Amino acid sequence: MDRPRLCVIGVGLIGGSLARSARARGLVGEIVGCSRDEGQLRQALALGVIDRYQTQPEAAVAGADLVVLAVPVGAMGEIYQRIHPHLEPTAVVTDVGSVKGAVIDQVREAVGAVPARFVPGHPIAGTEKSGVAASFDGLFDGRCTILTPVPESDPAATAQVRALWTGVGAQVVEMDPRRHDEVLAATSHLPHLLAYGLVDMLARMEEHREIFRYAAGGFRDFTRIASSDPVMWRDICLHNRAAIVPLLRRFAAELEGLARDMEQGRGQALHETFARAKAARDRYTQNQE
Ligand code: NAP
Repeated sequence: MDRPRLCVIGVGLIGGSLARSARARGLVGEIVGCSRDEGQLRQALALGVIDRYQTQPEAAVAGADLVVLAVPVGAMGEIYQRIHPHLEPTAVVTDVGSVKGAVIDQVREAVGAVPARFVPGHPIAGTEKSGVAASFDGLFDGRCTILTPVPESDPAATAQVRALWTGVGAQVVEMDPRRHDEVLAATSHLPHLLAYGLVDMLARMEEHREIFRYAAGGFRDFTRIASSDPVMWRDICLHNRAAIVPLLRRFAAELEGLARDMEQGRGQALHETFARAKAARDRYTQNQE
C-alpha cells in the first residue's frame, strides 16, 4: 500500500513539527498543509515541511488518509464542521489541542456525534515559540503523547494515530479526557497563568524597566513560558476553566498563607514549605533522568 497522504490543518509549531518528523521517518507520503495565512503556507512549502497547500480546509482534506488538526483549541469545532462532508470515508482525523474535553464537545456539537474515526490527542511537547519557522523534526522524540479516545472511537483508528506518534518517537498513553484536562491544568495551564500574571504585573509597575534590567537567570527561566502565543493560551484557559480556576484559587490561598507566614516571622513554617517543595521537585527531576 502507498504511504498515507497526510493533511495538516494549522501548519505552525506543532503541525509543522509533526509533518517534518513524519516525513523524516518515512511514515507518510504526500503532505498537504492548510492555514489561513498564505504567507505562512508558502514558507512551509519553501522549508520543505509540506508538498502543497490549500487555504480552504474543505479542499485540503480531499484524498487525505490522515488529517491532523493543529489549530488553536477554540477553532477546532468550526474546522471539523467544515471538513466533515469532504473527508474520505476511510480517513482518520486527530487533533493536537492542549484541552481534550472541550475539543470533543466541539466536534460532537459540530457534527451531531463524535465520529468513530476521530481520535483526540495531545503531544506533551512544545516550546514558547510559534509558527512554522519554529517547527523541527525531533520535537516529539522521547516525549509523551496522550490520546483520549471516547467510547465511540474505532480502535483501528486509535491504533493508526498511535502508530503515527510512536513513529515520530513519542511514547503514547491513553487517558480519560476529563482526567487529561485535570492533570494538564495542574502541570501546564496553571504554570503558564502564573508566568503571564507575574510578568504582566511587573510590566505594569512604573519602574518596570529598572526591574527587568536587573532580572537574573531565575526570572528568565520562570517566565520563559510567558512568551507563548496569547491566542493559544486564551483558548486553553477559556476551554479548560472548569479545571484551572479551582486550582488558581487554591494557589492564591497558598500565596496568602506564605504572605501570612512572612508577616508573622514564621521562619520554621517557611522552611518546612520550601523543604517539602524542594524534596518533591528533586524526586520528580530524578525520576525524569
Ligand atoms: P501555532 O504555531 O500558532 O500554529 C497554529 C496554526 O493554526 C497556524 O498555522 C495558524 O495559521 C493556524 N490557525 C490559527 N487559527 C486558525 C483558525 N481559526 N482556522 C484555521 N487555522 C488557524 O500554534 P501551535 O503551538 O502549533 O499550537 C497548535 C495547537 O497545538 C493548539 O491547539 C495548541 O493548544 C496545541 N499544542 C501546543 C503546544 C505548544 O507548546 N505550543 C504543545 C502541545 C499542543 P493561520 O493563522 O495562518 O491560520
